[in-house]
Amino acid sequence: MMQKQPQTTLDRSLYEAVCKRFGICPVSQDSPLFSTFSHSRYTVLPGFCDLHVHFREPGFLRKETIRTGSEAALRGGFTAVCTMPNLDPVPDSPEHLESELEPIRRTAVIPVYPYGALTVGERGEEPADLAGMAPFVVGFSDDGKGVQDAELMERLMRECKRLGKVLAAHCEDNALLRGGYIHDGAYARTHGHRGICSESEWGPIRRDVALAAKTGCAYHVCHVSTKESVAILREAKRAGVDVTCETAPHYLIFTEKDLEEDGRWKMNPPLRSEADREALIEGLLDGTIDCIATDHAPHTPEEKSRGLEKSPFGVVGLETAFPAMYTHFVRTGILSLERLVELMAVAPRRRFGIPCDGSAAVWDLNASRIVDPAEFRSKGRATPFAGKELWGVYKTTVLKSNSQRGTGE
Ligand SMILES: [Zn+2]
Repeated sequence: MMQKQPQTTLDRSLYEAVCKRFGICPVSQDSPLFSTFSHSRYTVLPGFCDLHVHFREPGFLRKETIRTGSEAALRGGFTAVCTMPNLDPVPDSPEHLESELEPIRRTAVIPVYPYGALTVGERGEEPADLAGMAPFVVGFSDDGKGVQDAELMERLMRECKRLGKVLAAHCEDNALLRGGYIHDGAYARTHGHRGICSESEWGPIRRDVALAAKTGCAYHVCHVSTKESVAILREAKRAGVDVTCETAPHYLIFTEKDLEEDGRWKMNPPLRSEADREALIEGLLDGTIDCIATDHAPHTPEEKSRGLEKSPFGVVGLETAFPAMYTHFVRTGILSLERLVELMAVAPRRRFGIPCDGSAAVWDLNASRIVDPAEFRSKGRATPFAGKELWGVYKTTVLKSNSQRGTGE
């Protein structure tokens, strides 16, 4: 198991402010990555960074806004998020990007870093104005859609390389979808649903790691869900390709066996098999998987009430990600708390060059809660964690920018 020493440090004055607020003494003079108050109820962790969220603004404000999304992030212990570009307008030029930057400046409660689209309108036909957007974006992605054309992908990789930006890929081969909407496995067969095969994900990943090796592009794979994907990425890393990847808590905790005829179990990629889940955990343990991201993808309750077949893809994740990971992996002894913090706070920032400003969140790791989506700040309510007991209760956040912003109590 990889245990690299994390490089982020917790800002000392903020750390002391947290201690003061909760009337407790810091345990160590030089807190390395984070400090646990061994004699108190609370634990201070650096603010997490989510590489993959959908805040739906501009374009789809009924589903979420930058304000509600960033408030949800704050309550999940996140102090930085990266927003995906499947918006209206799609941020594919500096002008279109401004429609997202303006509400970010006006309404975001934490730093929000947008991705620029790779292609015009995310249509996968012609490159977007990557050079024009580069100074204002964290990276480039056509998330929600895979880039189908290999030649175009190679061109985009060369341009990202030239601009010094990471290309974050949603890997999906449209030719293999065949109208599928859940994993092509036992549940789909038993219940008469159309399945999404694993190759629709790992096929494009295999193509892209070869292109990344050829171009030298910094390549990041979004929401890895299949065992084959993990194996391909492990091999690519061994071969020295500049590749990283993320997965989401739901792929690590649930499988197709958990599916119910309810939209809150529908996301893209879909929940896969137990063998896939085990391979993802193996990938977390050996360092093949670098980051945990939520793929927070809110829709209106009405949209998600249409069952597995008819509701749109996407579940919310910001307000459950850390408690879910803590409950299922740290409390069970599979991952250390340090490794989880690396996956959620350190590695995402390191890969995308996102500054660590010393913001920190306070958690009660000795308390649990039953997840009640009605309590979410997010407008989205669909989550597979509804009704589950999760350990780790968020208390407050100390932000570098305005010294203190408590929303927990
Ligand atoms: Zn995606």
